[in-house]
Amino acid sequence: MNGKKVVVVGAGPVGSLAALYAASRGAAVEVYELRSDLRNADTTPLNFTKSINLALSERGINALRSTGNNELLETVLEQTIPMHGRMIHTRSATGSLTEQSQLYDVHGRFQRSVDRGVLNGVLLNHLDSLPNVTLHFQHKMTGADFRKRRAWFEITDRTDSSHPNRPREIEVDFNLLIGADGAHSTTRYHMMKYARMNYHQEYIDCLWCEFTMPPTQSGDFAISPNHLHIWPAGSFMFIALPNLDKSFVCTLFGPVEMFVHLEDSPDAELVAFFDKHFPGVTNHIPPSDLIAQFKRNPHLPLINIKCSPHHFGDSVVILGDAANAMVPFYGQGMNAGMESVRVLFSKLDAIADRTAALASYTEERTKDAHVVADLALGNYIEMRSSVTSRLYKLRKYIEER
Ligand code: FAD
Repeated sequence: MNGKKVVVVGAGPVGSLAALYAASRGAAVEVYELRSDLRNADTTPLNFTKSINLALSERGINALRSTGNNELLETVLEQTIPMHGRMIHTRSATGSLTEQSQLYDVHGRFQRSVDRGVLNGVLLNHLDSLPNVTLHFQHKMTGADFRKRRAWFEITDRTDSSHPNRPREIEVDFNLLIGADGAHSTTRYHMMKYARMNYHQEYIDCLWCEFTMPPTQSGDFAISPNHLHIWPAGSFMFIALPNLDKSFVCTLFGPVEMFVHLEDSPDAELVAFFDKHFPGVTNHIPPSDLIAQFKRNPHLPLINIKCSPHHFGDSVVILGDAANAMVPFYGQGMNAGMESVRVLFSKLDAIADRTAALASYTEERTKDAHVVADLALGNYIEMRSSVTSRLYKLRKYIEER
């Protein structure tokens, strides 16, 4: 990589990490990001939601650790909250609220809750400090020629009056382009014209809407901070992940029909729906807030994407959601994307011929990524329903003995 020019498209968590890996190997790295810098308060966040909390697991942590930069890892971990297990919220036969803690691991291992924006910001701050990296925000990739190694970016920031003659579009050359531009990847779209790519895309019958559960009046967490909270309800569910400011980011997941029904119902029905299926939630999110948030926050789809190969020749490779977007129920989309960065660079380090390295990467990673995506689909049923089944409790009981 030393002396090579690496262009990274997308400065999300996966693209930012890929840029760090490439920079630490001596490449001249240019990162192009469609949106403005997420570290600025006025930037519209991803998915137009206020924030999105993610479960960061060993997969992702190992990819951060493998940068060899302990300070970076520690800075990220300081911004996380350990979640030792899941807390299942139900109502007993007598109508009282019940909470059941189910630990993730008999050896005490755990995953962590992290704000996507905070994690991304730590990676961007580190990239800013490197002399061989340049960050270009508000640059939207519009096209690429992966034989001639050229890509085109539209500059979407037209407010900078100090550059009146600035072109609307620039051409950029590269030795290697890493496409980490998310589920609706432009890199993947153009790569399909070169590689014989098989592609599968599926919208599952589920929408999601985000809510915030504020801290208590005394400024404490409303519910246990060290759990991933689940209110399972059969074909739908509500979950909550802790934030450092003692609030929780919560998500309602459910079939499209359920959302349509709630959208068309009087406000009181939404509150009654929550009281019936997600016991205790309206004690912590006042009904008026609940209604306001349901109306204000978008109701977004979930997509599952599988494709292969993940590269073309020795000029382009796709990573993260661009290569395999998965539903979020296994908490592994970002983690698997970060792991892909680690695996990609281990191949590039070990195999001198870049075409062979990228082919070896596709060969290994496609299978793994598809398995994780399938597990994620399966875990939706686990989270929204099986966590309360007798069989599940029996299995857990046996496992823990
Ligand atoms: P993205 O985060 O989508 O970033 C792509 C970047 O590319 C964006 O900044 C975008 O602006 C930019 N871009 C797009 N097009 C262009 C273009 N043409 N030119 C330039 N730039 C472009 N994962 C987990 O690991 N754990 C979880 O607990 C978890 N929970 C989730 C919960 C929900 C509700 C959802 C929806 C997802 C969850 N995920 C989780 C998945 C996780 O959010 C994604 O897998 C992760 O954000 C993917 O990172 P990425 O960098 O590949 O893509």
